[in-house]
Amino acid sequence: MGRLQQRACIVTGAAQGIGRAVGEALLDQGARVCFADLNGEKVAQVADANRSRLNGDNAAVTSCQVDVTDREQVRAMIAHTVEKFGRLDVKFNNAGVNKPMNFMDVTEDNWHFIMDVNGLGCMIGIQEAARQMIAQGGGGKIINTASVASRQGYDNVAPYCASKFAVVSLTQSAARNLAKHDITVTGFAPGVVATEMWEQVDKDLMEIGAAERPGQAMEEFAAEILKGRVATLHDITGTTTFLASPDSDYMTGQIIMIDGGMVLV
Ligand code: NAD
Repeated sequence: MGRLQQRACIVTGAAQGIGRAVGEALLDQGARVCFADLNGEKVAQVADANRSRLNGDNAAVTSCQVDVTDREQVRAMIAHTVEKFGRLDVKFNNAGVNKPMNFMDVTEDNWHFIMDVNGLGCMIGIQEAARQMIAQGGGGKIINTASVASRQGYDNVAPYCASKFAVVSLTQSAARNLAKHDITVTGFAPGVVATEMWEQVDKDLMEIGAAERPGQAMEEFAAEILKGRVATLHDITGTTTFLASPDSDYMTGQIIMIDGGMVLV
């Protein structure tokens, strides 16, 4: 028996990377999971792969195409999950984007693109999950993906840092508002995790002259990490499963750093 038996969960940004790994770790603990992503085709394949992994257990897995910046689509994703699982217990607001630019070259378009997905998407995600949790009588867990970039600013990714600082303050504000409904709002802040996101980030860094070759930025970050290496997905999922489980019931408004000692705050 897992720690999350029958809990109904949604994970956004679940077609790959951290979101996919978080969703799969929840399934391994007995939860039911809606994998949601902007890339509907890819996230449906993730759901299929997990159905096969669970010997065709169709009741535990579903998927949904969603743009987290669109409130109607977020509502439809929650309605789909409730139709499938009967309720919503845990919501991970994990979808995120980055698009490095030198600070002096940051454009309004770059700012809005990143702030919309990482900031507005997080706020809409909290609000709509909470609405469902309140409607079903209260209780529930909302978990947001922050970053080391939510604790200090980094060159070349200013809007990303601003958007992740926003995730921290949204977590705190929502925790205060939703405590009366027994809904907790927490988050986790990965350091550097080897995911597909870095393929594009590397290309962007080379384009703006901030790196000479793929992998260089990760190596430079790794040199600053007390653990001496970047994170694997396995380094992340123990904490995310904990945040979704009853073991974290007395926590709210907090962000857990999972960064190997990259930022000490
Ligand atoms: P990733 O790029 O591998 O995956 C992100 C997923 O989000 C993609 O599948 C993408 O399609 C989806 N997505 C993008 N825009 C969306 C939208 N509008 N609506 C719905 N889905 C959308 O990224 P990752 O590395 O797995 O990162 C996941 C989260 O972790 C992000 O919030 C990211 O900022 C954060 N994070 C990542 C790292 C890292 O080093 N990888 C470090 C700190 C924080």
